[in-house]
Amino acid sequence: MKYTEIMVRYGELSTKGKNRKDFIKQLGKNVRSVLAGYSDVVVKAQRDRLHVDLNGQDDQPVMNDLKRVFGIENFYPSIKIEKTMDAIKTTALQMVKEQFEPGKTFKISTRRQDKDFEYHTDQINNMLGDYILENVDGITVDVKNPDIEIRVEVRMNGAYLSSEKIKGAGGLPVGTGGRATMMLSGGIDSPVASYMAMKRGVKIDMIHFYSPPYTSEQALGKAKQLTSVLAKYSGGIQFIAVPFTEVQETIKEKVPEGYLMTIQRRMMMRIAAEITKNRHCTGIFNGEALGQVASQTLESMMAINDVTSMPVLRPLISMDKTDIIEISKDIDTFDLSVLPFEDCCTIFTPPAPKTRPDLEKSRKFEQYIDVDGLMERAISGMTITDIKPGEDYMNANAEIFAELL
Ligand code: ATP
Ligand code: MG
Repeated sequence: MKYTEIMVRYGELSTKGKNRKDFIKQLGKNVRSVLAGYSDVVVKAQRDRLHVDLNGQDDQPVMNDLKRVFGIENFYPSIKIEKTMDAIKTTALQMVKEQFEPGKTFKISTRRQDKDFEYHTDQINNMLGDYILENVDGITVDVKNPDIEIRVEVRMNGAYLSSEKIKGAGGLPVGTGGRATMMLSGGIDSPVASYMAMKRGVKIDMIHFYSPPYTSEQALGKAKQLTSVLAKYSGGIQFIAVPFTEVQETIKEKVPEGYLMTIQRRMMMRIAAEITKNRHCTGIFNGEALGQVASQTLESMMAINDVTSMPVLRPLISMDKTDIIEISKDIDTFDLSVLPFEDCCTIFTPPAPKTRPDLEKSRKFEQYIDVDGLMERAISGMTITDIKPGEDYMNANAEIFAELL
């Protein structure tokens, strides 16, 4: 069946009363942004439904992209036909036959927008039901739990039929949940945490610390590429690269080895908090999960969190690594995350970091470095890139990446 339109029914957001209008507007904007590459496709976000008019565009790639947009519970690929009972009958029968196997049940659900259409909803349901019963051997009706459901919409400009219901990404439209920053490394966890933040409607700006020459161009390219994969769920994302070499070298020189990691993390958090505030964002997300590595004990989180009163949000906090990996595979970030480019933390990680750093000692050792100066210079060296959904950031090193992927 060649579909002509995809119809989106609003999910969770339909319960949100007064915010409903904003949600619909935002969802329309996000869908448009994600489908921007298809020049013929037209998106109409209406009060009760969102319509994606395919205008001859192949339905499959559009549906794949649509599956990633948060705020969509289900969608229904539909076919537009002439608004006559004959045409409706023919197409409905064809749709049923495509899915029918002996023993299967069906149901017709009609909505009528065109009040001048010659039959009303119940009549259409009955006429179509009878027609299908007459023409498909062994089929029966089940209105509660049908195997096949044919949805008919009689609108002003034609009749629309659909027989497939496709599961969307759920969640809330990105942008309806405020704005925050995300500390993005090149690892497995922070991309998954980003996905989970966006799923609840939060628009995120990525903050990535890099340490040339200790970290390579590829490591930076990988973080951008991860962002471009994640942007498929939200539309464009701003990527903020913060140079961290001077901070790390200074800490390495001045701070006792057991506290290298804690002080590095405190500096990262401070810088991230400052950037977050300057951008009028209201929280910092990261990919920490309890017990994963040395820096992810409660004591360590307390020692690191000490530097800011900004909310630090950790969507993965109580998840098992296996479950995190499963999501990262589902959202297409896993293969990139496991590419072997060192990020700035691994390089300066001491052999035996303190798993239970002491807060007072952390504060004391930090006095050995020029916190304000280091912060200022890191922030003044930051660069911002607008990353678009699916854009390629690894081309410069295409051959190397091709070998590794
Ligand atoms: P990930 O898989 O996200 O790298 P991880 O298990 O390797 O996490 P850590 O290296 O301890 O754990 O990092 C914990 C969190 O700190 C990361 O999830 C990320 O949010 C943040 N972080 C680590 N390195 C960087 C970096 N280079 N730039 C920005 N944020 C970072
Ligand atoms: Mg990491």
